Amino acid sequence: MAVKRILTIQDKRLYQKSVEVKEFDKKLRDNVRDMFDTMRDALGVGLAGVQVGLMQRIMVIDLEEAGFIKGSFVNPKILETSEETQDSEEGCLSVPGISVPLKRPKWVKISYQDLSGEENTLEGEMLLARALLHEMDHMDGRVFIDLLEPDIKKLIKNDIELIKKGKIPKESKIPEYREKTAI
Ligand SMILES: [Zn+2]
Repeated sequence: MAVKRILTIQDKRLYQKSVEVKEFDKKLRDNVRDMFDTMRDALGVGLAGVQVGLMQRIMVIDLEEAGFIKGSFVNPKILETSEETQDSEEGCLSVPGISVPLKRPKWVKISYQDLSGEENTLEGEMLLARALLHEMDHMDGRVFIDLLEPDIKKLIKNDIELIKKGKIPKESKIPEYREKTAI
């Protein structure tokens, strides 16, 4: 088991694009295993490679308890999203202590490769759709707090400044929030 340090928004790498995975080898499987270990340790339900400093297009998701799936997805691409949206709360292991509403499509269909390079598709709705889109944003250097409505962005401005200085906002209840929404 190898738990890696999770980068927070202090780190510029979170704003860079990750590259496509070309080699489907043992190194990839080891990286994915470490990502699962790290996500589990942080009580998160999703993690993208860049969050542990691995600038590759890989994500792991564990939403089994919420009635969805657990899996790893390499080189994912969005094929289709619903026009219908959802507006529930979202959090991120790289933005500790923050959980705020963000509008996202209710449903998404993606293509991806599995750990042997096989092409597959996956459809997900609600929390699964949110997690898939959130992690895929990470791969393009986007963090969810930058997608918020201006009035919500304003509300958490001071907390964001604190996190960028390496602190955690005082009033946050991290374990509770992480169990539910941190992706
Ligand atoms: Zn995240």
